[in-house]
Amino acid sequence: MLKVVEINNLTVQYPDVKALDNVSLVVNQGDFLGIIGPNGAGKSTLFASMLGLNTKYKGTIKFFDEDIKKSKNYLKELGYVPQKPIFEKNFPVTVTDVVRMGLRKESDENKIDEVLQQLWIHELRERRIGELSGGQQQRVFIAKALVNNPKILILDEPVTGIDQQSIDLFYSILRELNFKQKITIIWSSHDLDAVNKLANHVACLNRTLFFHGESEKFFSDDDLVKQYSEASMQEHMHHH
Ligand code: ADP
Ligand code: MG
Repeated sequence: MLKVVEINNLTVQYPDVKALDNVSLVVNQGDFLGIIGPNGAGKSTLFASMLGLNTKYKGTIKFFDEDIKKSKNYLKELGYVPQKPIFEKNFPVTVTDVVRMGLRKESDENKIDEVLQQLWIHELRERRIGELSGGQQQRVFIAKALVNNPKILILDEPVTGIDQQSIDLFYSILRELNFKQKITIIWSSHDLDAVNKLANHVACLNRTLFFHGESEKFFSDDDLVKQYSEASMQEHMHHH
Protein backbone atom coordinates (compact mmCIF):
# COMPACT_ATOMS: atom_id res chain seq x y z
CA MET A 1 0.00 0.00 0.00
CA LEU A 2 1.30 3.44 -0.90
CA LYS A 3 1.69 5.81 2.01
CA VAL A 4 0.49 9.28 1.06
CA VAL A 5 0.92 10.89 4.47
CA GLU A 6 3.17 9.95 7.36
CA ILE A 7 3.17 12.06 10.49
CA ASN A 8 5.60 11.27 13.30
CA ASN A 9 5.51 12.70 16.83
CA LEU A 10 3.90 15.95 15.80
CA THR A 11 3.78 18.46 18.65
CA VAL A 12 2.52 22.03 18.31
CA GLN A 13 2.98 24.36 21.25
CA TYR A 14 1.22 27.74 20.98
CA PRO A 15 2.10 30.41 23.58
CA ASP A 16 -0.87 29.47 25.80
CA VAL A 17 -1.70 25.92 24.86
CA LYS A 18 -0.23 22.72 23.51
CA ALA A 19 -2.57 22.10 20.58
CA LEU A 20 -1.02 18.78 19.48
CA ASP A 21 0.95 16.42 21.65
CA ASN A 22 3.03 13.70 20.02
CA VAL A 23 0.61 12.77 17.25
CA SER A 24 1.63 10.03 14.80
CA LEU A 25 -0.55 9.06 11.87
CA VAL A 26 -0.32 7.23 8.54
CA VAL A 27 -2.72 7.69 5.63
CA ASN A 28 -2.58 5.26 2.72
CA GLN A 29 -3.64 5.92 -0.84
CA GLY A 30 -7.40 5.55 -1.25
CA ASP A 31 -8.15 5.91 2.47
CA PHE A 32 -11.15 7.85 3.63
CA LEU A 33 -10.03 9.11 7.03
CA GLY A 34 -12.40 10.83 9.44
CA ILE A 35 -10.70 12.90 12.12
CA ILE A 36 -13.09 13.34 15.00
CA GLY A 37 -12.54 15.59 17.97
CA PRO A 38 -14.29 18.31 19.97
CA ASN A 39 -13.67 22.05 19.58
CA GLY A 40 -10.09 22.89 20.44
CA ALA A 41 -8.90 19.32 19.84
CA GLY A 42 -6.25 20.50 17.38
CA LYS A 43 -7.92 19.45 14.11
CA SER A 44 -7.35 22.74 12.29
CA THR A 45 -3.83 22.98 13.71
CA LEU A 46 -3.08 19.53 12.30
CA PHE A 47 -4.32 20.62 8.86
CA ALA A 48 -2.46 23.95 9.01
CA SER A 49 0.74 22.01 9.73
CA MET A 50 0.11 19.52 6.91
CA LEU A 51 -0.51 22.38 4.48
CA GLY A 52 2.69 24.17 5.44
CA LEU A 53 0.75 27.10 6.93
CA ASN A 54 2.05 26.38 10.41
CA THR A 55 5.77 25.62 10.38
CA LYS A 56 6.40 25.84 14.12
CA TYR A 57 6.09 22.21 15.08
CA LYS A 58 8.21 19.41 16.45
CA GLY A 59 8.22 16.06 14.70
CA THR A 60 7.99 15.29 10.99
CA ILE A 61 5.31 15.42 8.31
CA LYS A 62 5.91 13.51 5.09
CA PHE A 63 3.82 13.42 1.93
CA PHE A 64 4.75 10.70 -0.59
CA ASP A 65 7.83 9.86 1.54
CA GLU A 66 9.20 13.39 1.37
CA ASP A 67 9.54 15.77 4.33
CA ILE A 68 7.35 18.81 3.66
CA LYS A 69 10.10 21.06 5.03
CA LYS A 70 12.33 19.91 2.15
CA SER A 71 9.91 20.04 -0.76
CA LYS A 72 6.63 21.79 -1.53
CA ASN A 73 5.88 19.56 -4.56
CA TYR A 74 3.17 17.72 -2.65
CA LEU A 75 0.98 20.82 -2.60
CA LYS A 76 0.17 20.21 -6.29
CA GLU A 77 -1.49 16.94 -5.32
CA LEU A 78 -3.55 18.48 -2.56
CA GLY A 79 -7.01 20.04 -2.57
CA TYR A 80 -8.06 21.87 0.59
CA VAL A 81 -11.50 23.04 1.69
CA PRO A 82 -11.19 25.36 4.71
CA GLN A 83 -13.88 25.95 7.32
CA LYS A 84 -16.70 27.91 5.70
CA PRO A 85 -15.93 31.44 4.59
CA ILE A 86 -18.74 34.02 4.59
CA PHE A 87 -19.45 36.42 1.72
CA GLU A 88 -21.33 39.66 1.38
CA LYS A 89 -24.41 39.12 -0.77
CA ASN A 90 -23.02 41.46 -3.45
CA PHE A 91 -19.41 40.37 -3.36
CA PRO A 92 -18.64 40.65 -7.08
CA VAL A 93 -17.36 37.19 -7.97
CA THR A 94 -19.28 34.44 -9.70
CA VAL A 95 -19.18 30.71 -9.05
CA THR A 96 -16.99 30.25 -12.14
CA ASP A 97 -14.59 32.97 -10.90
CA VAL A 98 -14.12 31.20 -7.57
CA VAL A 99 -13.45 27.83 -9.19
CA ARG A 100 -11.04 29.45 -11.68
CA MET A 101 -9.03 30.86 -8.72
CA GLY A 102 -8.17 27.27 -7.88
CA LEU A 103 -6.78 26.57 -11.33
CA ARG A 104 -3.02 26.56 -11.82
CA LYS A 105 -2.91 26.89 -15.61
CA GLU A 106 -5.34 28.87 -17.76
CA SER A 107 -5.14 26.07 -20.30
CA ASP A 108 -7.18 23.73 -18.13
CA GLU A 109 -10.28 25.92 -18.52
CA ASN A 110 -12.33 22.88 -19.66
CA LYS A 111 -11.86 21.30 -16.29
CA ILE A 112 -13.96 24.08 -14.72
CA ASP A 113 -17.13 22.93 -16.52
CA GLU A 114 -16.39 19.35 -15.63
CA VAL A 115 -16.14 19.97 -11.87
CA LEU A 116 -19.14 22.32 -11.90
CA GLN A 117 -21.19 19.50 -13.37
CA GLN A 118 -19.79 16.92 -11.03
CA LEU A 119 -20.71 19.05 -8.00
CA TRP A 120 -24.24 19.87 -9.29
CA ILE A 121 -23.57 23.60 -9.55
CA HIS A 122 -23.20 24.01 -13.31
CA GLU A 123 -26.50 25.89 -13.63
CA LEU A 124 -25.28 28.30 -10.92
CA ARG A 125 -22.05 29.15 -12.75
CA GLU A 126 -22.85 32.84 -13.47
CA ARG A 127 -24.38 33.52 -10.05
CA ARG A 128 -22.62 35.61 -7.42
CA ILE A 129 -21.13 33.50 -4.67
CA GLY A 130 -22.77 35.58 -1.90
CA GLU A 131 -26.28 34.84 -3.21
CA LEU A 132 -25.95 31.09 -2.76
CA SER A 133 -27.00 28.92 0.16
CA GLY A 134 -24.38 27.50 2.53
CA GLY A 135 -24.56 24.08 0.90
CA GLN A 136 -24.15 25.52 -2.60
CA GLN A 137 -21.21 27.69 -1.51
CA GLN A 138 -19.61 24.65 0.01
CA ARG A 139 -19.87 22.74 -3.28
CA VAL A 140 -18.25 25.71 -5.04
CA PHE A 141 -15.25 25.46 -2.68
CA ILE A 142 -15.00 21.75 -3.21
CA ALA A 143 -15.04 22.37 -6.97
CA LYS A 144 -12.22 24.90 -6.49
CA ALA A 145 -10.23 22.29 -4.56
CA LEU A 146 -10.84 19.63 -7.24
CA VAL A 147 -10.15 21.64 -10.38
CA ASN A 148 -6.45 20.62 -10.44
CA ASN A 149 -7.16 16.87 -10.14
CA PRO A 150 -5.68 16.46 -6.65
CA LYS A 151 -4.81 13.00 -5.32
CA ILE A 152 -5.71 14.06 -1.79
CA LEU A 153 -8.64 16.14 -0.57
CA ILE A 154 -8.56 17.71 2.91
CA LEU A 155 -11.80 19.12 4.34
CA ASP A 156 -12.03 20.96 7.65
CA GLU A 157 -15.42 20.49 9.39
CA PRO A 158 -17.29 20.96 6.16
CA VAL A 159 -20.94 20.72 7.25
CA THR A 160 -21.14 23.26 10.06
CA GLY A 161 -24.26 25.41 9.50
CA ILE A 162 -25.47 23.62 6.37
CA ASP A 163 -28.99 22.22 5.81
CA GLN A 164 -29.62 18.46 5.92
CA GLN A 165 -30.39 18.05 2.21
CA SER A 166 -27.09 19.69 1.27
CA ILE A 167 -25.29 17.54 3.83
CA ASP A 168 -26.69 14.36 2.27
CA LEU A 169 -25.70 15.49 -1.22
CA PHE A 170 -22.27 16.46 0.07
CA TYR A 171 -21.74 13.02 1.63
CA SER A 172 -22.75 11.24 -1.57
CA ILE A 173 -20.29 13.43 -3.51
CA LEU A 174 -17.47 12.58 -1.08
CA ARG A 175 -18.27 8.88 -1.36
CA GLU A 176 -18.13 9.08 -5.15
CA LEU A 177 -14.83 11.00 -5.16
CA ASN A 178 -13.26 8.39 -2.92
CA PHE A 179 -14.82 5.30 -4.46
CA LYS A 180 -14.89 6.11 -8.17
CA GLN A 181 -12.06 8.62 -8.55
CA LYS A 182 -9.87 7.02 -5.87
CA ILE A 183 -9.14 10.35 -4.23
CA THR A 184 -7.72 10.00 -0.73
CA ILE A 185 -9.92 11.96 1.66
CA ILE A 186 -8.98 13.42 5.04
CA TRP A 187 -11.95 15.01 6.69
CA SER A 188 -12.50 16.48 10.16
CA SER A 189 -15.89 16.33 11.79
CA HIS A 190 -17.58 16.01 15.14
CA ASP A 191 -20.43 13.95 13.73
CA LEU A 192 -19.72 10.39 14.90
CA ASP A 193 -22.60 8.92 12.87
CA ALA A 194 -21.42 10.48 9.63
CA VAL A 195 -17.85 9.31 10.21
CA ASN A 196 -19.19 5.83 10.94
CA LYS A 197 -21.11 5.78 7.65
CA LEU A 198 -18.48 7.29 5.37
CA ALA A 199 -14.95 6.80 6.58
CA ASN A 200 -13.00 3.55 6.49
CA HIS A 201 -10.44 4.91 8.95
CA VAL A 202 -10.89 6.98 12.08
CA ALA A 203 -8.55 9.14 14.09
CA CYS A 204 -9.92 10.39 17.41
CA LEU A 205 -8.02 13.49 18.31
CA ASN A 206 -8.04 15.41 21.52
CA ARG A 207 -4.59 17.05 21.43
CA THR A 208 -3.25 13.51 21.70
CA LEU A 209 -4.46 10.71 19.48
CA PHE A 210 -6.98 8.67 21.43
CA PHE A 211 -7.51 6.07 18.68
CA HIS A 212 -6.35 5.58 15.12
CA GLY A 213 -7.36 2.65 12.96
CA GLU A 214 -10.17 1.07 10.98
CA SER A 215 -13.58 2.62 11.68
CA GLU A 216 -15.11 -0.82 12.17
CA LYS A 217 -12.72 -1.49 15.04
CA PHE A 218 -13.65 1.78 16.70
CA PHE A 219 -17.41 1.74 16.18
CA SER A 220 -17.88 -1.91 17.07
CA ASP A 221 -16.23 -1.34 20.44
CA ASP A 222 -18.94 0.24 22.62
CA ASP A 223 -16.56 0.85 25.51
CA LEU A 224 -14.14 2.70 23.29
CA VAL A 225 -16.89 4.90 21.79
CA LYS A 226 -18.24 5.60 25.28
CA GLN A 227 -14.80 6.46 26.64
CA TYR A 228 -14.20 8.79 23.73
CA SER A 229 -17.62 10.49 24.04
CA GLU A 230 -17.17 11.08 27.75
CA ALA A 231 -13.67 12.48 27.32
CA SER A 232 -14.73 14.87 24.56
CA MET A 233 -17.89 15.89 26.44
CA GLN A 234 -15.75 16.87 29.43
CA GLU A 235 -13.55 18.86 27.14
CA HIS A 236 -16.62 20.54 25.68
CA MET A 237 -17.95 21.53 29.14
CA HIS A 238 -14.51 22.76 30.07
CA HIS A 239 -14.53 25.16 27.11
CA HIS A 240 -18.08 26.51 27.39
P1 ADP B 1 -10.04 22.48 16.41
O1 ADP B 1 -9.88 22.79 14.96
O2 ADP B 1 -10.05 21.02 16.72
O3 ADP B 1 -11.22 23.17 17.01
P2 ADP B 1 -7.68 24.16 16.76
O4 ADP B 1 -6.53 23.51 16.11
O5 ADP B 1 -8.35 25.28 16.04
O6 ADP B 1 -8.75 23.04 17.19
O7 ADP B 1 -7.22 24.73 18.18
C1 ADP B 1 -6.53 23.96 19.14
C2 ADP B 1 -6.09 24.86 20.30
O8 ADP B 1 -5.08 25.75 19.87
C3 ADP B 1 -7.22 25.73 20.85
O9 ADP B 1 -7.03 25.86 22.24
C4 ADP B 1 -7.01 27.06 20.15
O10 ADP B 1 -7.47 28.12 20.93
C5 ADP B 1 -5.49 27.10 19.99
N1 ADP B 1 -5.06 27.80 18.76
C6 ADP B 1 -5.45 27.51 17.49
N2 ADP B 1 -4.83 28.27 16.60
C7 ADP B 1 -3.99 29.08 17.31
C8 ADP B 1 -3.05 30.10 16.94
N3 ADP B 1 -2.83 30.44 15.66
N4 ADP B 1 -2.36 30.72 17.94
C9 ADP B 1 -2.55 30.38 19.23
N5 ADP B 1 -3.44 29.42 19.64
C10 ADP B 1 -4.14 28.77 18.70
MG1 MG C 1 -11.11 23.75 13.61
